[in-house]
Amino acid sequence: MTEKRVARAPLSDLLSSLPSVDRLLSHVRAGALIEVHGRDEVLRAVRGALDSARARLRCADSMGLPEPPDDDALLNVAESELAARARPNLRQVINLTGTVLHTNLGRAVMPREAIEAMARAAAEPCALEYDLGEGRRGDRDEVVEQLLCELSGAEAATIVNNNAAAVFLLLNALAARKQVIVSRGELIEIGGAFRIPDIMQRAGAKLVEVGTTNRTHPHDFDNAINARTALIMKVHTSNYVVAGFTATVAESDLARIAHAHGLPFVVDLGSGTLTDLTQYGLPAEPTPQDSIGQGADLVTFSGDKLLGGPQAGIIVGRRDLIQKIKKNPLKRALRVGKITLAGLEAVLRLYRRPAHLPERLTILGILTRPAAQMQEQAQRLLPAVGAALKGLNLSAGAAPVLSQIGSGSLPVERLPSVALSFSGLNRTGERQVILLERKLRASPMPVIGRMQDKTLLLDLRCLRPDQESCLIQTLQAAISQLRIAK
Ligand SMILES: *Cc1c(COP(=O)(O)O)cnc(C)c1O
Repeated sequence: MTEKRVARAPLSDLLSSLPSVDRLLSHVRAGALIEVHGRDEVLRAVRGALDSARARLRCADSMGLPEPPDDDALLNVAESELAARARPNLRQVINLTGTVLHTNLGRAVMPREAIEAMARAAAEPCALEYDLGEGRRGDRDEVVEQLLCELSGAEAATIVNNNAAAVFLLLNALAARKQVIVSRGELIEIGGAFRIPDIMQRAGAKLVEVGTTNRTHPHDFDNAINARTALIMKVHTSNYVVAGFTATVAESDLARIAHAHGLPFVVDLGSGTLTDLTQYGLPAEPTPQDSIGQGADLVTFSGDKLLGGPQAGIIVGRRDLIQKIKKNPLKRALRVGKITLAGLEAVLRLYRRPAHLPERLTILGILTRPAAQMQEQAQRLLPAVGAALKGLNLSAGAAPVLSQIGSGSLPVERLPSVALSFSGLNRTGERQVILLERKLRASPMPVIGRMQDKTLLLDLRCLRPDQESCLIQTLQAAISQLRIAK
């Protein structure tokens, strides 16, 4: 025990030595903050900074009260609180997960044409559902209907909020209190909350399952049809495959069976793209025009999966059935806004020139990037990253990886890519890898990678060249924080 104790002022003196709110607000730094954030926000932040300073003084260990913070320290606290409050909640991120259409990261990134059209639609009044020729109310679906018909070979089209809504609306409009026949091999669940049996029930339709998980035959459908049947439905198994001893019924056969009984045949395609992806060296994905050609009466698909546009659900097909769907009151509840329609129109227009699509449609450009490009990026990035790692128990390299398309598109197909990989040289290093993944997510520009075993992989497929310097800075900053945490 030491006799000598530093004489300190009692708590009440420390508390009263803190500056007043008014004194802080009249500081020149506060003046600058008020210019940016407004007086109310700055007042709130200054009060918050003083409150937490008081709380810290009160909690401080009786062995030694801390010095009260000075004006600058308090304003620092206020300033960072103001910055945090001003930051948008919907944060931009760099998606290096290797999943291109990542539902949790907003799916398709859109082409310039769509972004500009959406900005124009947001900024100005537009003839959204207004007939300029007649000077009266029009129909908002007409913004894209012609284009969709041209591209898909369908007679008519309607647009709703997303593909789940499209399926729901279709079932409610055409099959309420009636039966819908679906193969047992196609009772899909997509991303947690979309399950065919549940959607069917909520839409008021009765699901009739036929066949088995692995095999369904034409006679299964034939035998299930009765006076209460409303539809035969095919659901694209977009996020899994049934392989081995399997049998499915071709769309043309399902159409023939349905039509022989005067019933519509509908297809939920899920992703759906309006062009043949094999021409760009990508795996084949079914298209609405294929289904329509095989005899489907209606096809539903998403706007923001492989199509590469804004979130939307698209229904194309027979005019009489589309009319019936549009008359359903739920259509009004599920309709899209002008910004969505503007973006969708711009994206659809790009499909008129398929040869230009990889350059123009952002998502297709990303999917068709050759691995050699990512390899070059890795070589550009690694020197700066390697230098930052000196002294840590980490190694960085370029690793061959496989990207996936995502969002239930082409579930088993993988695209060769290259990732920056970070792994630990020992136990400490392994902890640093985990910490690095976390620090990258917490960065001002969050970088999202994926952990595979004990390695952090940053798949470079979605990294634009103009983002490379941002990635280097973010990595260097995150790595230097590891040094502090060490
Ligand atoms: C993705 C998908 C859906 C749901 O579409 P959202 O656009 O996410 O609403 C429905 N059916 C299938 C087959 C899908 O792949």
